[in-house]
Amino acid sequence: MLPEGVRLCAVSKFHPASAIREAYDAGQRIFGESRVQEILEKIPQLPSDIVWHFIGHLQTNKVKQIVGKVAMIESVDSERLLSLIDAESRKAGVQTNILMQLHVAKEETKFGFLPEELLSFFKEKRFESLTNTHICGVMGMASNTDDEDRIRKDFAEIASVFREISEDTALGLRGFDVVSMGMSHDWPIAVEEGATIVRIGSSIFGDRNY
Ligand SMILES: *Cc1c(COP(=O)(O)O)cnc(C)c1O
Repeated sequence: MLPEGVRLCAVSKFHPASAIREAYDAGQRIFGESRVQEILEKIPQLPSDIVWHFIGHLQTNKVKQIVGKVAMIESVDSERLLSLIDAESRKAGVQTNILMQLHVAKEETKFGFLPEELLSFFKEKRFESLTNTHICGVMGMASNTDDEDRIRKDFAEIASVFREISEDTALGLRGFDVVSMGMSHDWPIAVEEGATIVRIGSSIFGDRNY
């Protein structure tokens, strides 16, 4: 169903470990969770080769709990959070893979860097002080709307910010190659616009009971 080069992050938040196990047995390996407590409870119940992605807003006081436990934190939405992840990773002696979350949607979550903020973060090389964090790319969400043109514009903006950063050879970035965007209702558009990871929950696991 997904073209080559696009990975699926199965978003299992609010679903029990047994549902993850079922998807795991069917071959799925990357799972996304958005709450620290929930992911920490699930990790020990499930196979150790699961590739966990944290995709929710991460409170700074919970960074310490999550560092070293997940393969990637997709939702880094401030420089303060980034510095903390780096500091905790250094203390723990691990390297943490992260994505920078972009805020382009018009009425969705307020979390994330504005495109111009993220571009100046890179242009000013403010990543150079990081020692234990690898910035692998960007993550974002489109506006929550049925308007396909709006959704496409949002994804195109995320992809364009990504390209501007990744094609700037002066930055000397290595392994900056991930564009995580697209959910159950809009992932085909995200793929057309250049997603390399799509994060799909309800289409796989059914509706969530919050
Ligand atoms: C819940 C969630 C998803 C998955 O949404 P679905 O509509 O269930 O596919 C994707 N990304 C983030 C950041 C989420 O919180």
